Amino acid sequence: MTLTDPTSLARPVVSPDEVRTILHDRWALPAPAHELGSQQDRNYLVESGDGRVVLKLAGASTTRDQLVAQHRALARLRAAGIRVPQPLRSPLGEDIVEVALPGRPAMLTRTLSFVEGEPLIDREPYGIAEAACIGDVAGRVVAALAGFDHPGARGWSQWDVREAGSTVFGLADGTPRPQRELVEAAAERSLARLSGVADALPLQVIHADLTDDNLVMDDALGVGVIDFGDLMRTWRIGELVAAGACAYFREDADALFLQTVRSFARHVRLTDAELTALWPLVVLRTAVLVVSGIHQTTIDGDNDYAQERMAAEWTSFEVASRRDPAGMEALIRVAAAGVPAPPATLLPPDLTCAVVDLSVTTEELSEGDWLDPGAAERVLRRHAVAGSVALTRWGEYRLTRTRPLAARGQAATLAVGVDVMSSTDLPLLAPFDGVLSRTPEGVVLTGGTRRLWIDGVVADAVDEERISTGSPLGVLPADALGRVQLSQGDGLRSAPFALPGDAEEATASSPDPSDLLGVDVRAPDVGVEPLLRRRSAVFADAQEHYYAHPPQIERGWREYLIDVHAQTYVDVVNNVTLAGHAHPGIVRAAARQWGLLNTNSRFHYEAVTELSERLAALAPEGLDRVFLVNSGSEAVDLALRLAMTATGRDRIVAAREAYHGWTIGADAVSTSIGDNPRALATRPSWVELLDAPNPVRGTHRGADSGPRYLADVDEQLVALGGAGRDRIAGVILEPIFGNGGGVLLPDGYVAGVYERIRALGGVCISDEVQVGYGRLGHHFWGFQQQGAVPDIIAVAKAMGNGQPLGAVITTTAIAEAFEQEGSFFSSAGGSPVSSRVGIAVLDAIEDDDLQGNARRVGEAFAGALCTLAETHPAIGAVHGMGLYLGLELVDPVTQAPATALAHSLCDALLEEGCIVQPTGDHKNVLKIKPPLCITLEATAFVASALDRALTAAGS
Ligand code: PMP
Repeated sequence: MTLTDPTSLARPVVSPDEVRTILHDRWALPAPAHELGSQQDRNYLVESGDGRVVLKLAGASTTRDQLVAQHRALARLRAAGIRVPQPLRSPLGEDIVEVALPGRPAMLTRTLSFVEGEPLIDREPYGIAEAACIGDVAGRVVAALAGFDHPGARGWSQWDVREAGSTVFGLADGTPRPQRELVEAAAERSLARLSGVADALPLQVIHADLTDDNLVMDDALGVGVIDFGDLMRTWRIGELVAAGACAYFREDADALFLQTVRSFARHVRLTDAELTALWPLVVLRTAVLVVSGIHQTTIDGDNDYAQERMAAEWTSFEVASRRDPAGMEALIRVAAAGVPAPPATLLPPDLTCAVVDLSVTTEELSEGDWLDPGAAERVLRRHAVAGSVALTRWGEYRLTRTRPLAARGQAATLAVGVDVMSSTDLPLLAPFDGVLSRTPEGVVLTGGTRRLWIDGVVADAVDEERISTGSPLGVLPADALGRVQLSQGDGLRSAPFALPGDAEEATASSPDPSDLLGVDVRAPDVGVEPLLRRRSAVFADAQEHYYAHPPQIERGWREYLIDVHAQTYVDVVNNVTLAGHAHPGIVRAAARQWGLLNTNSRFHYEAVTELSERLAALAPEGLDRVFLVNSGSEAVDLALRLAMTATGRDRIVAAREAYHGWTIGADAVSTSIGDNPRALATRPSWVELLDAPNPVRGTHRGADSGPRYLADVDEQLVALGGAGRDRIAGVILEPIFGNGGGVLLPDGYVAGVYERIRALGGVCISDEVQVGYGRLGHHFWGFQQQGAVPDIIAVAKAMGNGQPLGAVITTTAIAEAFEQEGSFFSSAGGSPVSSRVGIAVLDAIEDDDLQGNARRVGEAFAGALCTLAETHPAIGAVHGMGLYLGLELVDPVTQAPATALAHSLCDALLEEGCIVQPTGDHKNVLKIKPPLCITLEATAFVASALDRALTAAGS
């Protein structure tokens, strides 16, 4: 096409009948009310049942692509809250309908909703408010279209601000002298001023004809924008050129123009090149309007609309071209600087942003789903909806980056980049002046010592292009995953995730990009040591913590614990968490019941009954009465009282080296010096202590030492004398040495003691708090391992998987004897929440076959530990059964307890990613009692870590 080709610029030729037919047949609309003015199209107003509609018949030069581009841009502007026409659909669902009329080229027709309001150009009086309105809308349109692109916006147009010079000289032939000389001279001067900065002018899609003619004002609805026929990708400043130039046929043109500049600059940060180019382009625009107006009337004589405008256009040119360009540029610079410019940020202002939490304590992830490789992206996608942009946090130790079965500190979890996802194409703007280069992943903007890496972006600019602050630098396509990383210093980009040990260096070389992004994405600091100081200042010191420098553990899953640096450890010590951490069934049961009811067992509700039934069914025949309490200590204390009230006696027999709890009663029968160094010296007189039946390092050794220990018991009972013996209410025993490190008692010992106590009229208590509930793998209860049956079972810990929950299960006779003493009430014991948790734990034991796993994995684990014992002489013995194991560490020469080694091994194992602690009177036994869901893989990991730690210790 050439500039002067009359067929291409003339409006379509159609008869009123044809218009009616098009409306009726193709758009199912009534006849038009009247024609609306247009330079190159034909527009008709139609009053339809659903409101006013404009029928647009495109001129022959308009392509379908151009119309599609317009419709896409309209959708974007509507999303940004700007009132624009809405394309309607034909009965066939099309928004563009091609119509063939006899003897004429095919014509593209559309219908758009009519944007109600009075054209701004007709406002009376017209002044500063109107000029501000134009600048404001133009600025908002430019901001909303930043980053938008479409092939239909890239065609040639005589209205392209970049073509102003060639349009003036190309069409000036038709302009009579002397106007022609004036126009050409002004154009030349302007082009000269422009030449130095033209290459630096930012490009983007703009409306390109945002004058007061194409803005309508409705008092209720506000301003609206119409006529997108000139939409094109060109110099961005072109929008302000058109918006500002329309002041020049009015009084006080400069004041109006500068107000338009001021209002525009509130939304768009103008670059230096743009501030230089604006005035010459305004003059050129007025020149283009003059020459093209004259030209249009010569090819389309009956266009009254074009005729009317010519006088105004000449005035505009005359006034603008007489201004001193340097003076105008200075005024423009003051106007643009006089308002706070939008911050120079990568993300356009006014975005709705969601900064997502991917830290260890996030609620976005659960049940181990962070281990899926796409977890972070999935969370972002969940938040990048309905126009909002989702971002991850900088300086965050990400849960999604953790690695189970890895040494501590070996998972690079610290994010020093920020991931970005948007539900719509996201335009990005240069937050500082720099050179934009392409990278395999996207682009990098280099300015001084700063480099801003942006992965996933589709760049507008050419490679190695110098761009200025606020210029578009590309688009992150909708739903694509982008990443922003700032680097400082040597210009090299460091890895986007760092090891916790490299935090200082990594955050210094890839600093927080919040200011450049325009969104605060900094994650809160994790302060492990300050928290420890706070704990020491307030939490009574008798309550010890593991490790001198403990990791801060804030999450668990199955057999894993995760610290705030997102390092995962195998939990080898948590016998309480029988079913595993954060067990979904237990979590759901607790949450659901909390939402329904939590009260005490004096109320009548189902859960307490159901749990009691299930416990009674698990206990041996005859043990059919259940008390529900909150802890092992409480259960033991109650068991002791039951024994005393049932027998009317006051003495309790207990074994040494055992631990039964902290209440006065439970503590009285506890003699483990590991817990209380003065235990033996401070026993009350009502406690009769038996020798510790420890077949490994006790008085008698070997699994067959039971009869010898029992003979000692006999002797001791004789020594008590008749009066002493008659006061024995009962005996309490751990069926396996719990605190002793999982040492199995000699065969027949527990049954033998029970027999003797019962012969004296006492009752027998089994403390199952540590070892009961399936942990032994081969047995549900510990006493089964000893072939004994107690009269009272005390159980807790595993029963609630960590929820405070304990039980005493006994015979009807013992329970009834206790009733004579009055009623029993423990406020939270057997509460609806605790009971539901208790039921969920029992379900988990069955559903997850936890006891079977304890047997299978426990045997393999014990086997692996025994193999280690062959090469590490410091391993004196491997105790226990199922997943209740103990690794006894000794001096290989003297067999003395290796307490210091046990301590240092625990520290070394922590670094290996395993949480293990020592127990026993000499704290030389590593206790191995993990959640019963532990896998073979995890136990193999622990065994190999132990192997390395022992080797490193030379043991
Ligand atoms: N009995 C035994 C065998 C225990 O190991 C413990 C706790 N370690 C208790 C009773 C006391 O339980 P709790 O800490 O729940 O009071």
